[in-house]
Amino acid sequence: MTSVLVIDDEYGVRSGICQILELEGYTVDVAATGREALALLDQRTYDIALIDYQLPDVDGLTLLANLRNRKLPTMTCMITAYANIDTAIAATRQGIDFFLPKPFSPDDLLGVIETLSRHKQLKEEAEKLRKENEASLRALATEKSQTASLVASLRDAVLVINREREIVLANQAMAALIGRESSALVRMPVDAALATEPLAGLAGLLSEESRSERRLSEVTLGDRVFFARVATFHGDDGRGDDGAALGRVLTLADVTDMRRMAMEKPRFIRTMVHEFRSPLGAIRSLIEVATEKSLGNDLGPYLPFLERADRRIDRMVELIGELLSLSRIDLERGPDVGETATDVGAGIGATLDLYRERIAARQIEAAVDIGADLPRARIGEEDLKTVLGNLVGNAIKYGREGGSLRVSARAADDSIVVEVADSGIGIEPENLPNLFQEFFREKRAETRDIDGNGLGLAIVKRLVERVGGTIQVESTLGVGSAFRVVLGAAGEPSQSAA
Ligand code: ADP
Repeated sequence: MTSVLVIDDEYGVRSGICQILELEGYTVDVAATGREALALLDQRTYDIALIDYQLPDVDGLTLLANLRNRKLPTMTCMITAYANIDTAIAATRQGIDFFLPKPFSPDDLLGVIETLSRHKQLKEEAEKLRKENEASLRALATEKSQTASLVASLRDAVLVINREREIVLANQAMAALIGRESSALVRMPVDAALATEPLAGLAGLLSEESRSERRLSEVTLGDRVFFARVATFHGDDGRGDDGAALGRVLTLADVTDMRRMAMEKPRFIRTMVHEFRSPLGAIRSLIEVATEKSLGNDLGPYLPFLERADRRIDRMVELIGELLSLSRIDLERGPDVGETATDVGAGIGATLDLYRERIAARQIEAAVDIGADLPRARIGEEDLKTVLGNLVGNAIKYGREGGSLRVSARAADDSIVVEVADSGIGIEPENLPNLFQEFFREKRAETRDIDGNGLGLAIVKRLVERVGGTIQVESTLGVGSAFRVVLGAAGEPSQSAA
């Protein structure tokens, strides 16, 4: 129900208005002075206020200003017997909604009140619409920016063109492939953006002749292989207004690593089969000497053959162990793998202890150099032992009798650099890039009689890389090799640091 506040110092006017409006079903309050009106306004909000221009205490204009300051939704109408243009202007400035000169008839009054309540309703509806509009615009803007940042950050390269073959969107990955800024590509004709090789093939994929909705193909750009997908989109009715497509989306997913892994698997299995077959063949021949009794009935002459077979079995067991560690490393890749903090100095000490006899047997002069205040390294204790064990083991195997072995560890920025250096046979420069591949072994006269299966360095590399470290090798043929492992520092100082 519409509520009205009547503010007039004349009793007759106040009660007259009150009667007329109450008869029509309005709720009415009356105030004789400005102060009374303000007290009532403190208590409730009115739909309409009829304000006399001249009040004994506060004048009508001040009251009006007060109402506006309170930001009330009340519609206002000034009632005055002294209506002139100046009062009208002053009241309009204060935001008056209507003006009713005294004297007025009951019909005049009711007409004004009706108009004001309709205005108020319209105003409220407009305000509601404005708020709804604002909210949906805000939601739309958030949604748009979310979609935009999602597309921008996609690993896949995305390119959208319109029906005029102009670029509408190219995300960061696509911009990097094309070699321009995303923003510079927008509005550019796609055929111009993709004019040069090797990109020209992509423009072809987006060409008009390709009528189908989705097309898939494989594209090679430089040394990377991509899986390309083209989707055509139409308007809501399923077709553009002239039946043509509205645009096309090209996505490129980099499948180079997946491809490489897929190709490596059969190679790995082939090598593995070979690694098992050849010792098994050798073991069978060694045992056959005994089963065929080719050396007579005494057991003695066969023993060396059986011992050789036994050694080959040992090597196969070792190979199985290393294959298992390789697969374990791949399975154990988790976020907490690099969380352990390990004392590198202690690890080096333990490793050299383990190899003490072999070092002595080959008369190698071993030196250890551990930097002062060495922090712990971000790697598990067992993993560090495996890394150091393989590197030190190789330095002895591929080192020279009476040569030298030097193991050092020092802190550098936020990392720890561990180096294992020998004065051994060295490595052919052309083999350096393959050294860390599974089953890789250098085939040289010097390595022929050295046992090994080519898995040690592959294991080392995977263990180091899964905790965010790196491994490098420097070598001079015939002079020696140095393997350098860089691990993250865990921040705590080691017990053994001196
Ligand atoms: P393995 O020693 O069992 O053959 P690794 O993976 O440990 O396997 O090493 C791969 C190859 O790298 C070795 O066969 C050898 O040719 C070469 N290599 C590794 N360490 C050294 C080293 N310290 N000096 C010379 N060659 C090395």
